[in-house]
Formats: sequence, structure tokens, C-alpha cells
Amino acid sequence: MAANAFYRMVNRQHMTTPAPDIFARIYARHGHRCTMSTLGGRIGLAVLRLRRAEWEDVRGCYLTRTCAVDGIVEVTGLSEDDGRLQVIPEGRHLLRLEHAAGRLEIELAPTALELAGNYRRLGYQLEAGWDDLDFAERERREGLREEALDALLVKLWEMGDDELLLIREENHG
Ligand SMILES: [Zn+2]
Repeated sequence: MAANAFYRMVNRQHMTTPAPDIFARIYARHGHRCTMSTLGGRIGLAVLRLRRAEWEDVRGCYLTRTCAVDGIVEVTGLSEDDGRLQVIPEGRHLLRLEHAAGRLEIELAPTALELAGNYRRLGYQLEAGWDDLDFAERERREGLREEALDALLVKLWEMGDDELLLIREENHG
């Protein structure tokens, strides 16, 4: 979405939309609301949906260090602390799970990356010339950013897995 569209859809009387419980927990763990921790949560929720008893123990690997890791940790319980989740800097937004029956890969789809990218670019535009802005203009821009983020997060909580995620399953024999 173009930044202008973001500007048009914002509502000056804005209030933050309360997050569904699982996402509220992610943001509490993560320390802020953001697109990538939300998308990490969506990856984690897809894991829970697809998970089968015959997998037994699961180990995971996420192929880039982003805010998504906190979303995955909060939802799946996999953790870097106990070694069941590794983060490898290969620059792909992809969770690879190895389990007794095979392998599951969940990657952020182009639509998800595009939505996150649009928001990031809006942020750059709003920060342009920041040092020279007066207080009122900074406040105005912060408000615009918050409103755009709020609208985007609601979307990312609600969009279908088929729009946000690419899922590949591979089973032994
Ligand atoms: Zn974040």
C-alpha cells in the first residue's frame, strides 16, 4: 500500500485496538508491538495447527534474526535457551522444524513481506528530517505511525494463513 493511502486511512482520534490474547502475550515478551513479532506469532500458530502427536519432539531453526523469533518462542514454546530453537543468519524469513516423522517449513509469503516493507518505508518517510522538526510535528508523525501500525496489526492478526504463509511439509517414507 502506498504511504499516501496510509495517510488517508488514519483517524486522528485514534485509539490502539486491543490485541487478541496470544498477540498481547507476544508484545509483552517482545517489549513492543511490531509487524515481525506479529508474523512470528502467525508462524507459531500455524505450527500449533499442523502439529501431530507422531512428531514427538520438535526442533526448529529460524533463518534470520528478527523480531519474529519472539513470536515463535511465545507461541510454540521452542526456545533458544534450551537449544530447541536455533537462529541462523541466512536472510530468509523461514522456520524449519525437524521432527520424528519428517520436516515442516513455514516461510513468510511475499504478501506478508510486502506489508511489512510498506510499513517500514512509511517509517522512513515519517522520520525524514526528524532533527529539524518541532515538537508538534514530531507528535503528529508519531501519531500517524501508530495509527498505521495499528491498522496493519489488525490485518496481520486476521488475514488467512494462505495469504501470509508458505507451508511445505515433507514426511519420511
Ligand atoms: Zn519488534
